[in-house]
Amino acid sequence: MKAALILATQQFERHPALEDPDIDELFVVEAEDRFRRLPYHQHKITLLLAAMRHSAARWEAEGRTVRVVPLSDGVGFAAGLERLVRDRRPDGLAWMGATDLGVDERLSALCARWGLRTRVYPDGLFLTPAEEVDGWFAEHPAPRMEDFYRWQRRRTGLLMDGGRPAGRRWNFDADNRKPLPRGGVVVPALPAAEHDGITAGVIAEVGERFAEHPGDASEFWLPVTPDEARTWLDAFVAERLADFGPYEDAMARDEPFLFHSVLSSSLNIGLLTAHDVADAVAQHASASLASREGFVRQVIGWREYMRGVYRAHPELADANALGLHRRLESYWYTGRRIPRDLPEPVRVVLERVHRWGYAHHIERLMVLGNWLLLRGYAPREVTRWFSALFVDAYEWVMVPNVMGMSQWADGGLVATKPYVSGGAYLQKMGHWWESDAAARDSAFTTAYWDFLAANEDALAGNPRMALALAQMRARRDA
Ligand code: FAD
Repeated sequence: MKAALILATQQFERHPALEDPDIDELFVVEAEDRFRRLPYHQHKITLLLAAMRHSAARWEAEGRTVRVVPLSDGVGFAAGLERLVRDRRPDGLAWMGATDLGVDERLSALCARWGLRTRVYPDGLFLTPAEEVDGWFAEHPAPRMEDFYRWQRRRTGLLMDGGRPAGRRWNFDADNRKPLPRGGVVVPALPAAEHDGITAGVIAEVGERFAEHPGDASEFWLPVTPDEARTWLDAFVAERLADFGPYEDAMARDEPFLFHSVLSSSLNIGLLTAHDVADAVAQHASASLASREGFVRQVIGWREYMRGVYRAHPELADANALGLHRRLESYWYTGRRIPRDLPEPVRVVLERVHRWGYAHHIERLMVLGNWLLLRGYAPREVTRWFSALFVDAYEWVMVPNVMGMSQWADGGLVATKPYVSGGAYLQKMGHWWESDAAARDSAFTTAYWDFLAANEDALAGNPRMALALAQMRARRDA
């Protein structure tokens, strides 16, 4: 008898184990220790458990044998798997290669100890096979996302017109990235959450067992099955894609989602594949090419590129180019007693993250990440916080995005300059303060000048920082 272990982040409708004629049983471990490794947002725990239980119910309904170690047993991952192996006595174990580094090696070591033969299916979370991404990064010691993205477009044929990019341009940024009009815009609502008995049970269990974690399980809102995730994808393509491009960098105090897809929580656990999402968007010809290209760039470009950076640069996990050491205060985790003098955008987005476990890209980068970098928090502390609070956070995507893109801990591998700004940029893209003068005089702007002064030596050799440093010196010397 051979068994396949289905990992929590691999809830694929067509998991390769289901098509493997050698597999007799499916193993699922709801590992208590995994959910307690960090103070994870209750919505993230709910998402994973509800998705795992729906998958198990579906496989059983299809007549498969599923063996589950339930969360209520309070068993850790390795102990839970060992229990299944001792009870069921398979002679081999199969699993899909995990995206986070080290997982496959630990599983192989356990199987060797138990005398099991192993089979590892390719990681299905990405369009690009791991070896091909590794090959590209090996050939590009100074990797640039734009080069990777063009390679992906040619490789996949998405938005290509023969050998040339559709519309004769690779990049439509000039048409995109607008602030919202002053009068506001109508943002279509996300599909409503309708919880069945399985999800309702998970919500109750998480609310009870993880009561001290951030978030409120009873407000859970995300898709947990491939069918539900497809409904979200269809709704995004039909209702919000057309405005994705123009407003992808916009922010609004009362709109947490704007025209973003909110599909990362589904993509990162296999409810949707990158293929499903990129194809649906590329083919939706009634949205402008600028919007479709802007979105496809995120999925086949940024998402796959970041996974490549993570694989090629494991040293990123401990980087700290600017030598920053401040620790996060407890309100970041609890959401309680947020200081009154925290700048308005940071307070609003922090409250949002506690409510939803989500903020869109530009809020992660230019509000939260920007502020945390300006204020000198240690990059590993920041990564830990993002990992705990966000519903779509896993090591492979956290490390390059937070350590690399957002906190510049790599000293310039992912981003050619630190993503920092004062209040003026935030005001332009989000109208956070009552006037431009208030934005200029805000604590955000003060923190920006202080950061440049404190890190002047470290940034002086970077030509892209020359103007900002010159402005800082002119102010300081005035
Ligand atoms: P959309 O704006 O609709 O974009 C579409 C899709 O593109 C996303 O669903 C995502 O799959 C992909 N994508 C876009 N940019 C990136 C990127 N830089 N890296 C990886 N995928 C990308 N993304 C995560 O999936 N998990 C994280 O934990 C995460 N943490 C982040 C932390 C910081 C500080 C920053 C700056 C970015 C982070 N991102 C993370 C990337 C990006 O912000 C999110 O993928 C995106 O906001 C998810 O919301 P959405 O599905 O509405 O995205």
